[in-house]
Amino acid sequence: MSTNLHHHEHKVSTELKSKRYGHKPAVVWLTGLSGSGKSTIANLLEVKLFDLGYKTYILDGDNVRLGLNNDLGFSPEDRKENIRRIGEVAGLFADSGTIVISAFISPYTEDRLRARQACVHDFIEVHVDCELSSCENRDPKGLYKKARAGLIKGFTGIDAPYELPINPEVLVKTDKDSVGDCVDQIISKLCDRDIIADSLGRVPTLDKSKTIAIDFDGVVHAYSKGFAGLENAYDEPHFGAEKAIKKLKDAGYKLVIVSSRPAYVIRKWLENYGLNSYFDDVTNVKRPASYYIDDHAIEFEKGDKNSWLKALSKILEQ
Ligand code: ADP
Repeated sequence: MSTNLHHHEHKVSTELKSKRYGHKPAVVWLTGLSGSGKSTIANLLEVKLFDLGYKTYILDGDNVRLGLNNDLGFSPEDRKENIRRIGEVAGLFADSGTIVISAFISPYTEDRLRARQACVHDFIEVHVDCELSSCENRDPKGLYKKARAGLIKGFTGIDAPYELPINPEVLVKTDKDSVGDCVDQIISKLCDRDIIADSLGRVPTLDKSKTIAIDFDGVVHAYSKGFAGLENAYDEPHFGAEKAIKKLKDAGYKLVIVSSRPAYVIRKWLENYGLNSYFDDVTNVKRPASYYIDDHAIEFEKGDKNSWLKALSKILEQ
């Protein structure tokens, strides 16, 4: 075991990532018998969340057993280690701001608890419940047949136990409800927990009509002496900026600073002037917005033969 390890505080916090992505990170941990529907639900859940603009990743047997865990077999110790690593990886992916969907039988309570503890963000345990007889009838991979024939040993539900989840966050019954209904039950839970926005279909950070993108230098930051290095935001707020920002925020706009400076430099400067909380995002990436407030803005009149000439002369005379 390693000693002398120190946890580093990262400058880009999970909170900042949530603001950027428009949702909170979480681990959706699907557990249930083989053939209960974990992969099917994971896939439809991911499609729905992805279509809503959310950042998702599925951890399943294929991408884990073939790579990270290809040194592990199916002995009790290896199964335990398999789930332990998956829990840790899920926690790391969640740290990256992602909604992680994991789809593993994970039959032991203790292992699921460990996975929960490996995640500092919301952990949504979903019991994908289905009668063994239905799973066996479905037998999507032909595994039950092999297990019954004695070709697979220690198969969950046949000759290895499945410990039922106690108080899972969500219980879906795939032998009673459709795949779509099961997925909707999980999505409702994500809404209840404020992990995703509750009006489905709209991503808060991409709501163009209520977003104003604002340049930093020369607009928020007075920038009276011009550029003095990306890290050096040396000046005071631009005349009138503080009042205007507060007014726009009161009017219900989302305010996003778009600048080539590193966001932490800007955040720190905003903090010094008590302005940090007014901004929904600080980014280098151009965002959809209904207004762009920019000291380099160029008036461009559509259809006017001189518009480009004016634009060019404005740009080239700078
Ligand atoms: P697991 O990943 O749990 O081993 P799979 O998703 O691979 O299970 O297989 C489940 C099978 O059950 C699929 O063939 C799927 O189409 C079927 N199925 C029927 N009803 C449902 C449901 N409500 N939810 C999920 N799967 C269902």
